[in-house]
Amino acid sequence: MTDETRQHRFATKAIHAGAAPDPATGARAQPIYFTNGFVFESTEQAADIFAVRKTGFSYSRGSNPTVAALERRVAALEGAKAAIAVASGQSAVLLVLMTLMRSGDSYVASPRLFGGSLGLMRRLDGRYDLKPRFARGMEPADFEAAITPDCKAIVCESIVNPCGFVMDLEGISAVAKRHGLPLIVDNTLASPALIRPIEHGADIVVHSTSKFLAGSGQVIGGVICDGGTFDWVKAGGYDLINQPWPDYDGLVIPERFPETPFAVACRLFGLRDLGPGLSPMNAFLTLTGIETLPLRMERHCSNAKAVAAFLRDHPAVEWVSYPGLPGQTGEANVARYSPQGPGSIFTFALKGGETAAKKFITSLDLVSHLVNIGEIKTLAIHPATTTHRQLSPSERAIAFVGPETVRLSIGLETIEDLIADISQALDQVG
Ligand SMILES: *Cc1c(COP(=O)(O)O)cnc(C)c1O
Repeated sequence: MTDETRQHRFATKAIHAGAAPDPATGARAQPIYFTNGFVFESTEQAADIFAVRKTGFSYSRGSNPTVAALERRVAALEGAKAAIAVASGQSAVLLVLMTLMRSGDSYVASPRLFGGSLGLMRRLDGRYDLKPRFARGMEPADFEAAITPDCKAIVCESIVNPCGFVMDLEGISAVAKRHGLPLIVDNTLASPALIRPIEHGADIVVHSTSKFLAGSGQVIGGVICDGGTFDWVKAGGYDLINQPWPDYDGLVIPERFPETPFAVACRLFGLRDLGPGLSPMNAFLTLTGIETLPLRMERHCSNAKAVAAFLRDHPAVEWVSYPGLPGQTGEANVARYSPQGPGSIFTFALKGGETAAKKFITSLDLVSHLVNIGEIKTLAIHPATTTHRQLSPSERAIAFVGPETVRLSIGLETIEDLIADISQALDQVG
């Protein structure tokens, strides 16, 4: 990235950051480099790249030019020092936890998280003894109360999947700083167009790019961003980042890469050792999606607000959880962190309970019944029996997902058509 692109504003960066016309051919779109290997100039260069004495492409599991363009673009949009693209959002969360911790360590986690993250955390606890300590509530004080001496990080989502709650990122970051812990924020539901968590004190940001970043529901992917803000050496105790790597000639990552030691540890361990790299094709489609991100997010937010207001006033609806409406819990956090609106994923409950919730979903015509979120198409799902089914009823209650709850992801269709479809489906619920 040149200094010029660094100074550009958000929509310009979404189109230009991290990619330039191809110097070999002049191609204006980012070329897709479908190659596993890259020919070395010399045996010395090959050895230098393998020992991380020099940077360069060697094998596409660890890095690839098309994937690198996506990494630079997401890093620029988040205001991060570096980013690593991976095969899915799920693997982004996995690599962050595995890079920071070893068996016996713990971390504080938000009680309301994406169901897949909760499932992963439970499995890592049971099989690898990486212990999540769930905060009792959503306030910074709840996170602080859950911290124990073996704690290595704090994890939350910027906007919570599925209830749309916007977290008090600066409050939670103040807790993290007081206890010398890195704050990890899953920014999938906001995207950097709505919230840039590093500006509010986060140290690491993760994304499922399968959602708003790619935008069209075609490709799975994930990104890990290193804010370069956390002092790992001072904090101590993060072996993989701070201790010499004997098989890399005693490499001490923070000495050679003082700006982005977390990103480097994550790439060496997460991609070279564990291996969930992103395909260049998926990186290309995601880059293409990001070019229109700011425009799409405006429409996602305005459509979601209109649908939420319609549902709130409908007699068949018990409640709507969309903090972008006046009088809702968490309204102040929306005004402070996400003034454009809290995204387009939210829940609502039907007075007729589970039967009505399921009848509503199957009565939709324009709106698709499927499990993705953050697409240009509007989607609906019954989370208690799908995304959140692995949780116990009490865990589901904490996550704000009851049998009567429907999750919507509002897309970019003409609003009158969306409301007409939702209205006819509510009529069928009776
Ligand atoms: C979807 C999602 C993930 C997992 O991402 P995949 O790309 O589906 O693996 C992680 N976090 C949040 C908040 C998500 O919505």
